[in-house]
Amino acid sequence: MNAIPSVKLIDGKATAARVLADVRTHVARLRESGLQPGLAVVLVGTDAASQVYVRNKVLRAGEVGIRSLEQRLPSDASQAQLLELIEQLNRDPDVHGILVQLPLPAHIDEHQVVQAIDPLKDVDGFHSHNVGGLAQGRSVLTPCTPSGCMRLLRDACGELRGKHAVVVGRSNIVGKPMAALLLQADCTVTVVHSRSRDLQALCRQADIVVAAVGKPRLIDADWLKPGAVVIDVGINRIEEDGRSRLVGDVDFAAALPRVSAITPVPGGVGPMTIAYLMKNTLLALDLQRQAAQQERTPCLSPC
Ligand code: NAD
Repeated sequence: MNAIPSVKLIDGKATAARVLADVRTHVARLRESGLQPGLAVVLVGTDAASQVYVRNKVLRAGEVGIRSLEQRLPSDASQAQLLELIEQLNRDPDVHGILVQLPLPAHIDEHQVVQAIDPLKDVDGFHSHNVGGLAQGRSVLTPCTPSGCMRLLRDACGELRGKHAVVVGRSNIVGKPMAALLLQADCTVTVVHSRSRDLQALCRQADIVVAAVGKPRLIDADWLKPGAVVIDVGINRIEEDGRSRLVGDVDFAAALPRVSAITPVPGGVGPMTIAYLMKNTLLALDLQRQAAQQERTPCLSPC
């Protein structure tokens, strides 16, 4: 097989390493001034995948000098117990970011839990305050995966203004915030989903395709305009040739000759998500300091 031209590959691992190096430098500076950013990660229950995600987040935090606080509750913990823990973390001045690992056990109302997190500590960017702020184009905490995708796109495309981006998928954690961020970057944005008609024709018009569906290799070369830039958020485990492997929502091998740049799976968007969680923890700290400053500043206008 011919080697893949490296200009075409959007290397999420390398970009994530750069993001994390910047975070590490920033944290070191903060620590010199006596301030250590803190991230609380809350896990309810024993879901195997969630345990791996939490372990990785805690490990990564340690690597960049962020103090992590792992909080575990049993599967049968009540909603009230979880809300009480979040309240404690909201009040803790050493905790700057709070992440509740999803999904939660079925008896817990996910929305109510997310809404209980102080929006200035909501490093996942899922609180309505942050969702609304993103829609209004204000400077708020935005979800980690789409934020990471934006960084990859800026690096790959340079100027995004005026480009036509098609986002495939409309979930609250990827598709919708991705569309909002692209809009903020002055792209023309189309969102397509499971009920859209003529998906392929819509995708074929796109300069940028962001796939966040969860269907292995749904998008093949016929869906793509020659020279398009493709960000594949999908992570799908399949059995192939007698072994288990991870593939994206895009048929990578078929798309490669047609596109100008594409993220691989794994090694594309995945590493960016955790890097942006660390970056968001610093942003949260910054927003909290700004809010505290505003509280201290006397109101000079008649109010
Ligand atoms: P989701 O199930 O919440 O949403 C999937 C979306 O795809 C829905 O809006 C649905 O309308 C749309 N859809 C379903 N079938 C479709 C079809 N045939 N054509 C067009 N649209 C269709 O999923 P999600 O949470 O947004 O995740 C999507 C994928 O991204 C999953 O594979 C997930 O594992 C992956 N993911 C990766 C990361 C990462 O860090 N890389 C983070 C989050 C999600």
